[in-house]
Amino acid sequence: MTLSPSLYDDIFHHPCPSCGEKHKKTGRWFAIVARYHCLNCNAEILLKYPQKIAIFNAHSILKNKEVS
Ligand SMILES: [Zn+2]
Repeated sequence: MTLSPSLYDDIFHHPCPSCGEKHKKTGRWFAIVARYHCLNCNAEILLKYPQKIAIFNAHSILKNKEVS
């Protein structure tokens, strides 16, 4: 499992672990950033490599469901 560049232009939804606020960003953005702050509660959200993989993986599963 890698960070597939074919998903870079897709919009991913990532909920804040603290308040559940959904953040909409592109795959490219998730691949690049190391951390961000929640727009709602200002919690710092770390995006380490395993988290990035999980986000890409979840999105790719969701995408496959939509297609089939
Ligand atoms: Zn939050």
